[in-house]
Amino acid sequence: MDIEEEKIGEKPLNFLEKIIEDDLKNNRVPDNKIVTRFPPEPNGYLHIGHIKSICINFGLAQKYGGVCHLRLDDTNPTKEDVEYIDSIKEDIHWLGFDWGKEEYYASDYYQQLYEIAVQLIKDGKAYVDSLSPEQMREYRGTLTEKGKNSPDRDRSIEENLRLFQEMKEGKLKEGAYTLRAKIDMSSPNINMRDPALYRIKFASHPRTGDKWCIYPMYDYTHPISDAIEGITHSICTLEFEDHRPAYDWATAIDGIDHAPHQYEFSRLNINYMLMSKRRLLNLVNLELVTGWDDPRMPTVSGVRRRGYSPESMKDFVSRVGVAKTEGVVDYSLLEFCVREDLNKKATRIMAILDPIKIVIDNYPEDKIEYFAAVDNPEDPQSATHQMPFSREVYIEREDFMEVPPRKYHRLYPGNEIRLKYTYYITATSFEKDENGQVSVVHCTYDPESFGGDTPDKRKVRGTSHWVSVKHAVDAEVRLYDKLFISEYPGGETGNYIDDLNPESLIVVNHAMVEPYSSEAKVGDYLQFIRNGYFCCDNKDHSDKHPVFNRTVTLKDSWAKMKKKMGI
Ligand code: ATP
Ligand code: MG
Repeated sequence: MDIEEEKIGEKPLNFLEKIIEDDLKNNRVPDNKIVTRFPPEPNGYLHIGHIKSICINFGLAQKYGGVCHLRLDDTNPTKEDVEYIDSIKEDIHWLGFDWGKEEYYASDYYQQLYEIAVQLIKDGKAYVDSLSPEQMREYRGTLTEKGKNSPDRDRSIEENLRLFQEMKEGKLKEGAYTLRAKIDMSSPNINMRDPALYRIKFASHPRTGDKWCIYPMYDYTHPISDAIEGITHSICTLEFEDHRPAYDWATAIDGIDHAPHQYEFSRLNINYMLMSKRRLLNLVNLELVTGWDDPRMPTVSGVRRRGYSPESMKDFVSRVGVAKTEGVVDYSLLEFCVREDLNKKATRIMAILDPIKIVIDNYPEDKIEYFAAVDNPEDPQSATHQMPFSREVYIEREDFMEVPPRKYHRLYPGNEIRLKYTYYITATSFEKDENGQVSVVHCTYDPESFGGDTPDKRKVRGTSHWVSVKHAVDAEVRLYDKLFISEYPGGETGNYIDDLNPESLIVVNHAMVEPYSSEAKVGDYLQFIRNGYFCCDNKDHSDKHPVFNRTVTLKDSWAKMKKKMGI
């Protein structure tokens, strides 16, 4: 194969790959080893947006033979929790990435950060300010108006050192004092107007306990953590672009001898979804969902429980790509990737969600036959499994009609259909219950018919899936749909609660599923023929009480509906 040929079908490099290749080529990377990091704040569960960041950071390290650190950015003790740390690790592993020994915590650097702050004070580059938060906001100015110097800005070094010491020793009240960098109150960039470096917070930290009552700010902690760890490419989302000068200021502090660069890409946004930990936490707290891992949540644990595979999530973010332009990705692209992947993986089984009983009057009462059903018709080498067949079977209620409309090719009195993988049956009569609903359909079968064929090559147009009554597994089936009905939840008002989809979960208490489903385990991918892709619920599923979640419908009925409605 020549090189030209090899390049066909290759994806062009994204802007980050170009930067890295250029840096490597020009020997700008120590030891030619790139070091990235994924730096979540452990204040919630990861969501699909984070998957993009994980794939970028771990993906680049993998591609260029470098390493990616996991850094828990734990500088806000009041919002952070060990439960979140554990979930973050589990989610990254589920996606197939590993940080090896490179697990770091911003809190590991508290002592170093403190010493650097003391040095800054000694160098006259930081001061303790007693402005209240409101005053500080007022002094900061606006985008069009310069800020003004705090009266404390010229405090003596000795006094600053004493006050900072008192802050650290818990002698001063929360909110009363702040350590600030002395940069420039008239800078056009608000983030450079003497940003806060430390605040007082009497809060126990999940890792450092009560050792500290002063905590460093993000804009101070993050760049120095990057520098300490020897990060070469510090990749974050666009909202940090305006913070880059503060990042560069921090990594240029005397004594810090490694200066990483920060690069920004656009966040992943998907319509019909919320992608903010704060808002997702609110849904959890208000019990509008069953938890962070509710299968309707856009969290990694939610989509895992819903039955999305890690491969489909990686495929999705790779199709979205890496760029600097903000945009909203269509939900249907996400579901497209999920379907593409499940079509290849899912074991096909038959499940009747709304059963109606068929009695085949001319089939012997105690006879049981077994028919081979293909596990996955997409796979030419697919295995098969045996489906028991008996005199009574369930089919979907919608597959029978007393009075068929035009073009209805399924079962109705006098009509013949095929039961998938087995006989042809013809409806002869039916019974109704006390509510006037059809309860039993009587049929006859043709013993000479088999699967797709009869000796006389008779054609039938309808095929139904079915489950033998006496072999059926009684299961709970949870039909999930979008959590929000509005394309931009919260829209202009911000009240996203009003936009919740009242039909985001419909529970079928007694679905009838073929017995092969008993072999399905949590983590398996299933297709219920004609009904969608499903999985075993990873919390509630058991042999005694099978619970299946609908991962996604077989087709994009939503897109079809939108098209019909012209939107
Ligand atoms: P949220 O706004 O949901 O609370 P965050 O940005 O505060 O998210 P962090 O824990 O700080 O969450 O994020 C860790 C990393 O993931 C950061 O580098 C951040 O830029 C990135 N990230 C967060 N949300 C997205 C997103 N929607 N798309 C891409 N990357 C994201
Ligand atoms: Mg954040």
